[in-house]
Amino acid sequence: MNSDFDGQDDQNFCWVNYFLSKAGHNFFCKVEESYIHDNFNLYGLNQQVPYYDQALDLICDVEDDDDYSEDHQELIENDADVLYGLIHSRYIVTNRGLQAMFEKYKYREFGECPYVYCQNKPMLPVGITDEKNKESVKLYCPSCERVYRPKSSRHENIDGAYFGTTFAHLFFLTFPELKPTQKPQTYVPKIYGFRVHEDAYAQSLEEKKQLIRSQSRTKRRIR
Ligand SMILES: [Zn+2]
Repeated sequence: MNSDFDGQDDQNFCWVNYFLSKAGHNFFCKVEESYIHDNFNLYGLNQQVPYYDQALDLICDVEDDDDYSEDHQELIENDADVLYGLIHSRYIVTNRGLQAMFEKYKYREFGECPYVYCQNKPMLPVGITDEKNKESVKLYCPSCERVYRPKSSRHENIDGAYFGTTFAHLFFLTFPELKPTQKPQTYVPKIYGFRVHEDAYAQSLEEKKQLIRSQSRTKRRIR
């Protein structure tokens, strides 16, 4: 067994609990054992994870009698993380998975929207692509419907594909009562109480360019 596991009581060791306790892994819910043990749910994942069998044994706390080198063991452990992530992305779009994520959402475990007019609405994790190794996890606000970077750098290494592009939206169709019915107020830029006209910046830029041009002409004349 790897040094990460040293000091763990072998009898009570549970890989999934260990995985969930790692920094930044608080966005993941606990996938039910019965879901992981059903081969049908894992269909095709062996194509995506090189050490699939060993990784699955690790996740399921199945004792592996083979002796691996430290490097080999590290690859297997990394694959177990990836495999759990991929299983997770499938699980959270099932009824049980949606319910598990609801429990976390209820306690605002994914954070709150930073947009002032959203008034601390709780957010949900999303992937902006379903392909792994492309983008880290982001957070979706059901009020302003924007996606944000998680506040903590611990989430920078969490792959967005482990949450996927569908989950957050299926969640609000499953729990429509949680989706705010009104859009938040839009922030309006004002100067001394007057709204800044949208053409004002272009106009201001044009005036500035003219000023620079006339200044450079004056300089040339003086020389
Ligand atoms: Zn928002």
